Amino acid sequence: MSRRVDLKVGFRCNNYCHFCVQGDKRERLPAKEPAELYRALEEGRAGGATGVVITGGEPTLHKEIVAIARRARELGYALIQVQSNGRTFCYEAFCRRLIDAGVNEFGPSLHGSTPKIHDFLTGAPGAFLQTVSGIRLLKTLGQRVITNSVITKTNYRDLPDLARLLVALGADQFQFAYMHMSGRAGENQRWLAARKTLIEPYVKKALDVGIAAGRTVMTEAIPYCRMSGYEDYVAERIIPDTRIYDADCVIPDYTRARVDEGKARGPRCAECDWHDVCEGPWREYPELFGWDEFVPVRKKAVAAAGKGS
Ligand code: SF4
Repeated sequence: MSRRVDLKVGFRCNNYCHFCVQGDKRERLPAKEPAELYRALEEGRAGGATGVVITGGEPTLHKEIVAIARRARELGYALIQVQSNGRTFCYEAFCRRLIDAGVNEFGPSLHGSTPKIHDFLTGAPGAFLQTVSGIRLLKTLGQRVITNSVITKTNYRDLPDLARLLVALGADQFQFAYMHMSGRAGENQRWLAARKTLIEPYVKKALDVGIAAGRTVMTEAIPYCRMSGYEDYVAERIIPDTRIYDADCVIPDYTRARVDEGKARGPRCAECDWHDVCEGPWREYPELFGWDEFVPVRKKAVAAAGKGS
């Protein structure tokens, strides 16, 4: 039984992110028909799901996005989230239609604290202004906003400033996700991917900003050995069981798919005290950078060293 359905409604997008994982699906695949999407929503509910994340591509470009949200509400989903690049959230009438249809959580993405960084990474001049305006607008409409930011070589030094901006905008929760080097992100990995040892202090400073402001914060795809002292913020601990309606297949258990196919553990991971719960990095990471940054953690040794200091 999956608690959540991830419903990909189509892969068109008005951004062209350098770190996009969806490859050429935007050109190859048409938007899914409403009937197919409604069937997926029904199947998910019958399987016990209480939450749906409507995503893509950019789901707000789907002509029937409002009807899809309404159908989810009719079926009894308690959580209805739209995960988006956030640009269309700057239009108040559109946001009100989504809210009236039943959307009760908004998941825009923001990848930098300045137009220069965000617009470069998303390949879309003006995107920063629209997404930031969208977050501000949704908060004035009393909505819950949870954001995602992809960590790359272009923006990792900016993460603390980005966190300060997200706090100022009123985001309820923010997540920093290490880029997954698949699709376009895979093509760009040599200039876009940063080593995890390099990003670590900036990620932790950015988390500190959110923690001090009382926001829910987390990271994704950064194993515990690079999160020392911040292990509670590893998102993989709490990602709900999710059934994904992908481009042309259904992934019944996303956690299993991540662990069995998406992620990898290294030659020394068996020695680590986090071994049973850690998913490891996306498997493309060690193919590029090797395993030397992933050093097994001995929790007892860490605790003893803490007492001695
Ligand atoms: S199991 Fe491996 S990747 Fe995970 S925290 Fe331990 S050393 Fe790091």
